[in-house]
Amino acid sequence: MIFSYFCRMETLSNSVKELRHRYIEMLCEIYDKEEANALLMILLEHHFGISRVALALNPDMLLSDTECLTLQSSIRQLTASRPIQYVIGKTEFCGLEFEVDENVLIPRPETEELVTIVSSQAKTLAGAVDVLDIGTGSGCIAVSLARLIEGCRVTAIDISGNALDVARRNAARNGASVNFINADILSDPALPRRFDIIVSNPPYVCESERRDMRANVLDFEPPTALFVSDDDPLVFYRHIIDFARTHLKPHGTVWFEVNEHLGAETAELCRRHGFGDSAVMKDLFGKDRYVKAAR
Ligand code: GLN
Repeated sequence: MIFSYFCRMETLSNSVKELRHRYIEMLCEIYDKEEANALLMILLEHHFGISRVALALNPDMLLSDTECLTLQSSIRQLTASRPIQYVIGKTEFCGLEFEVDENVLIPRPETEELVTIVSSQAKTLAGAVDVLDIGTGSGCIAVSLARLIEGCRVTAIDISGNALDVARRNAARNGASVNFINADILSDPALPRRFDIIVSNPPYVCESERRDMRANVLDFEPPTALFVSDDDPLVFYRHIIDFARTHLKPHGTVWFEVNEHLGAETAELCRRHGFGDSAVMKDLFGKDRYVKAAR
């Protein structure tokens, strides 16, 4: 009698249906219901290969004790605001899968759009296109461009050796050939090559904008990839555009992702540095998000 009682308890607590109910409630402390549900489905799929359809077909599915612990650990991380992409160690960008961890920013949809814009520009160029990505992080821009632009040669630099390790693995897992270099753009490095396209999504969030940001970004994403001082928010753009003067081919173009409040200032900075044909472009949310600079 007692034995069967405990068995039933065990079964009940390990059923996906029951766990799902309990964990969604926990996740709802920081996510809305729909998001909580989606997050749980991502975890079930990632850890155990359980799809939404499989669950619908077999609602009484059970997890082993080890599986329960795995799921519990992931839920704890999510309720502590750790982004799902770091919890499962990967994300999708431009239809490719990228490894991510706390050494690199989680790629944003705005950056996907930047890749689309840059790759269509690259396709108008004849011959092998030389591309440089400055501050590559996870390598999402460099790797996607290497895959999208036929016959291009992609170089990518970053100040962080740990980020470059992630980026190198991302190039390998996506079959992309990228030349990664550990360099700090603020030290004005000299590279032995000129490029048709220089692209960068440098740190551009002002310190004063911290107060509008969520814990999942502030507590987990690498601050060196995000923040700049309010006193000199365009520091990276200034160094990059200066670098472009000596590292861009005569008809080359520079493509920046920018702070939505600093588009006009960034384009003006480019003009002052000899890039007379500079313009701001909007992102898919209608915000000033990119600057194209050409001579
Ligand atoms: N778009 C990112 C954010 O809002 C910032 C990226 C960056 O600083 N380059 O968190």
